[in-house]
Amino acid sequence: MKLHEYQAKALLAQYGVPIPRGEVATTPEEAAAVARSLGGRVVVKAQVHAGGRGKAGGIRLVDTPQQAREAAQALLGRRLVTYQTGPEGVPVHKVLVAEAVDIARELYLAVVLDPSARGPAVIASAEGGVEIEEVARRSPEKIHRLAPDPLLGLMPFQGRQLAYALGLPPSLVRPFADTAVGIYRLFVEKDCSLVEINPLAITTDGRLLAVDAKVNLDDDALFRHPDLEALRDRTQEDPLEAAAADADIAYVRLEGDVGCLVNGAGLAMATLDMVSRVGAQPANFLDVGGGASEEKVQKAFAIILDDPRVKRILVNIFGGILRCDVAARGIVSAVRAKGFCPPMVVRMLGTNVQEGRDILRTAGLPVTFVETLQEAAEALRKAP
Ligand code: GDP
Ligand code: MN
Repeated sequence: MKLHEYQAKALLAQYGVPIPRGEVATTPEEAAAVARSLGGRVVVKAQVHAGGRGKAGGIRLVDTPQQAREAAQALLGRRLVTYQTGPEGVPVHKVLVAEAVDIARELYLAVVLDPSARGPAVIASAEGGVEIEEVARRSPEKIHRLAPDPLLGLMPFQGRQLAYALGLPPSLVRPFADTAVGIYRLFVEKDCSLVEINPLAITTDGRLLAVDAKVNLDDDALFRHPDLEALRDRTQEDPLEAAAADADIAYVRLEGDVGCLVNGAGLAMATLDMVSRVGAQPANFLDVGGGASEEKVQKAFAIILDDPRVKRILVNIFGGILRCDVAARGIVSAVRAKGFCPPMVVRMLGTNVQEGRDILRTAGLPVTFVETLQEAAEALRKAP
C-alpha cells in the first residue's frame, strides 16, 4: 500500500526527520489560507500515488496566497499524468501546501528491501533530485549502499559513514546520520517496503530538510497497523486491482492482451511463462485461489472482462477443491452479466471436468477446449 507525500512526511516527523512546514488542502480557498499562514511563498504539490510530479507540472512554486489559490485550482479535480502513471493518469483530490525552501543541494536517501542482502538496505547519493534513476544508470558509483545487521539495525556510526561517503560538510554529518537512523527505524517498526526521501535538501542556510517523501507499506503486515491502513486512498489505485482486493483475489495488472484466469499461484505463474513463451503477452496475473466459490470465479472473470485491453482469454483451472462445474458456472454468470466474451482457450482438468465443459459449451461461449498446457500454447499461437 502506498501513502501520500503528506502522510509519509507526518511519519518522518514522528521519527525525528526535519520536514518543511505545510498543510494539506482540498479546495483552492484552503490552499490560499494555508499559504497565508505560511507567509505567502509556498510550493503547491499534487498529492498522488506517483512520482515524477515535478516534470509533469504537479509541483508549483508560487509567491503569494492568490497564486497558491490558482495553482491549487489548476491541479485539483484534474488527472495528473507522469512517467510513472499510465496514460490515463491519477486523480488529484488534495494538494500539499508547504513553505518554499531555498535549496542549495539535493541528496537522495532511502531504505529499501534488498533481496541480495536479504533485508533492508540504506541507499544514499549526493546526486538526488528528479534524475536518480539516471544517476544509477550512468554512474552507479555515485550510489552508496549499506545493509546493516538486521538484528542491530542501522548504527549511528554507519549513518555518519554514509554522510562522509557523500562528502557532506561536518555540520551536516550528525543531522544526516540521525535522519538515516530515523528512517531505518521507521522502515522496520511500520513494516515498510520502501522509505524514500528524494530530494533530501540542503537548504541555502545550511539545514537538512526532507522536501519529498515516499513510504510504501507491506500489505501482508498491514493488519499490525490499523492506523496506517486507515490512510488507504482507493481513488489512487487501479480500479481493477482494487476490485480484486475487495474480492480477495490475487491480481496483478500486466501489459499484454491475454486475460488469464487460473487457480493457484504456482499454476498462474507457470501459465504466464507459457503465454510469454509463445510470444503472447499476459494482461494480468490472476489467482482465484484453491477453494473459490462460483461467486468468486464470477467476480474474477468480470475483472478480466472489464479490462478493455483483453482481446482473448486463457482459463487454466485444475479442479481439485474448486470443481470444474463451479468454475464454469462462475464464468457463464460473468459473461451473462457483461453481455460479451472474447475468444477463450480453456484448459480444465479434475473434478467434474465433463460437466464444466458442457456448461461452457451449452452456454454458447467462444471456447477452444484443450487438454494440456502445450495445446493451450498452440491454441494461443494460432489465435490472432
Ligand atoms: P516529484 O517530482 O514527484 O519527485 O516531486 P518532488 O517533491 O521531489 O519535487 C520535484 C522537485 O521540485 C524537487 O526535486 C525540487 O527540485 C523541486 N521542489 C520541490 N519543493 C521545492 C521547494 O520547496 N523549493 C524549491 N526551490 N524547489 C522545490
Ligand atoms: Mn521527489
